[in-house]
Amino acid sequence: MTSFDDLPPPFGGFDGLPAVEASAFTGFAVSRIDRRSENRAADAVAAAFADAGARLYLFAADRALIKAGDPLFTAAEAERLGVNRDNAVLLGWVEGAPHLAATVADVPGDTNIEAADIRALATEGRLSSEHLGAIAQARSLTHWHSRHRFCANCATETTMANGGYRRDCPSCGAEHFPRTDPVVIMLAIDARNGGDNCLLGRQPRFMPGMYSCLAGFVEPGETIEGAVRRETFEEAGIRIGRVAYHASQPWPMPHSLMIGCHAEALSRDINRDETELEDARWFSRAEARAILAGTHPDGVRAPPPMAIAHHLIRAWAEG
Ligand SMILES: [Zn+2]
Repeated sequence: MTSFDDLPPPFGGFDGLPAVEASAFTGFAVSRIDRRSENRAADAVAAAFADAGARLYLFAADRALIKAGDPLFTAAEAERLGVNRDNAVLLGWVEGAPHLAATVADVPGDTNIEAADIRALATEGRLSSEHLGAIAQARSLTHWHSRHRFCANCATETTMANGGYRRDCPSCGAEHFPRTDPVVIMLAIDARNGGDNCLLGRQPRFMPGMYSCLAGFVEPGETIEGAVRRETFEEAGIRIGRVAYHASQPWPMPHSLMIGCHAEALSRDINRDETELEDARWFSRAEARAILAGTHPDGVRAPPPMAIAHHLIRAWAEG
């Protein structure tokens, strides 16, 4: 393990802060919603429904409803679709208009309305990026409410509070807050001995030819750096030294936050976890550029530009 004395300072004063916020280039990261978390009074959701300018993002199961290319519905349209007001969440405001999120029980038969996979929406670029950030916020919250109706302390049915950012137990008084699950996603780089290679792996569920960064959930009591070192060793058997944060990405499937890092590899021999990865390989910087351009001779492809893994690879390959 590296000692503190071997590590450089985190940055050279404030001049060392990044000029460009890399997170802004990832899918689900951009939103126009002004959350105004101080404005979540007890009647905030009811007041928002009563506002003529109110707009709703609607979900059926895990899918977002889209009406002729538009993901926003009026309160009257939402009522006609049978919106569940009991799990409606106040997301915030856009130019003074309250924006909410809620679910409907069934995908409407109306042929103008489709129920879209939200990952596909981000990949295909059919919606403007500002909707994707709002949809991430909306879907993470409505999913949490749908799975956390009962108190984890005493099993009594809880009620929504704070505009949908809390559930309160009427029996034992416990307050329950929405989850955000941190996930580290990292590009390990071996730059020792004049080499310059990055580590990419393939999960069995990936599209043919696609390789990506390794990733895993941060465990309780663990730093981001500790999780990067542990997950890289568990999945690929590679020892990691220093770790640098690059960017983050909300990942609303259902409520994760991807924390993207570059990591310094201290070993070379891959010892793959065969249940997690069906392959893991080192790629040179030239190969990484070819992968991003879609011209790698083995047909290796990168994740799409909406994914933070794409930007971790690109930042290193073009850096
Ligand atoms: Zn309780």
